[in-house]
Amino acid sequence: MSVIYGRVALIGLGLIAGSMAHAARRAGAAGEIVGTARSPETRAIAEEIGLCDRIVETAAEAVKDADLVVLAVPVGVMGRVAAEIAPHLAEGATVTDVGSVKKHVIDAVAPHMPHGVHFIPGHPLAGTEHSGPRSGFAELFDNRWCLLVPDEATDAGALDRLSRFWRALGSNVETMEADHHDLVLAVTSHTPHLIAYTMVGVADDLRRVTDSEVIKFSAAGFRDFTRIAASDPTMWRDVFLTNKEATLEILGRFTEELFALQRAIRTGDGQLLHDYFTRTRAIRRGIIEAGQDTDAPDFGRVKRG
Ligand code: NAP
Repeated sequence: MSVIYGRVALIGLGLIAGSMAHAARRAGAAGEIVGTARSPETRAIAEEIGLCDRIVETAAEAVKDADLVVLAVPVGVMGRVAAEIAPHLAEGATVTDVGSVKKHVIDAVAPHMPHGVHFIPGHPLAGTEHSGPRSGFAELFDNRWCLLVPDEATDAGALDRLSRFWRALGSNVETMEADHHDLVLAVTSHTPHLIAYTMVGVADDLRRVTDSEVIKFSAAGFRDFTRIAASDPTMWRDVFLTNKEATLEILGRFTEELFALQRAIRTGDGQLLHDYFTRTRAIRRGIIEAGQDTDAPDFGRVKRG
């Protein structure tokens, strides 16, 4: 594959930026990858494992002469980072981000972008519960969606180039409008994470179930909640603070449905429960048919022991 951007600057060196570095190398899509992170510890680890071609101390230094700049920090600090890099961006550069919320990031970043720089927000729908510079891997984006959020003023050539870059990293690419993105993600990612956090919190509070029982018998569903609830606290705090409206809208609907199911259990309405679970099973089949998860029993986990 050929080089799509001569120099790529990664701001933040966690799971997503790290995976982008690995995947870009696999594809030969970047001439040079320059990275930076706020802490000396993260920069030292990135240096040690050879995550990028060059690690520099500041974001301002990293974006110098970069053709593509990727903001891969928590959603809540995107605006501050954008302000810091703005005076140092090269004419004609593309700036993108990987934040899980789009409307807030656009409002925070766009005002800082100088004339002649293409700002095209993005969000790869891929992740794990791990974070930090060692957690990235080249296959993270394979066959996953990357949503790009252009507006009417976006340069078609710059959008096409960024789309080609994400495809080279293994993603399927689609464009979406920011508000719609935030609502879709509230349904598919943000609210499910909140429910997982809650369920794990409830189990932790339940004094009748000893800790060892929770762990020992966790394969029966709870284990998957614990995996999701192990996700990075800073990232998820920022997601809920910045996608407030859509998350509250979906949580409201969730609560109504929960009450309906609660009532069906109390009144012994087996038909309602059966119909409901039949409908949800069909949604799971649809996800597998779309190639977004495995049909292997136990979510494809390898049997241990
Ligand atoms: P991560 O592994 O926790 O890495 C975050 C990076 O941001 C680290 O390099 C960290 O620097 C830096 N950072 C944290 N707080 C900062 C601050 N206040 N100022 C400057 N830099 C700061 O996170 P990630 O999972 O890669 O997530 C990065 C972005 O991708 C987030 O916006 C998230 O919403 C989005 N995203 C995440 C996932 C996912 O599943 N994880 C999926 C799609 C999109 P230090 O290491 O030096 O602290």
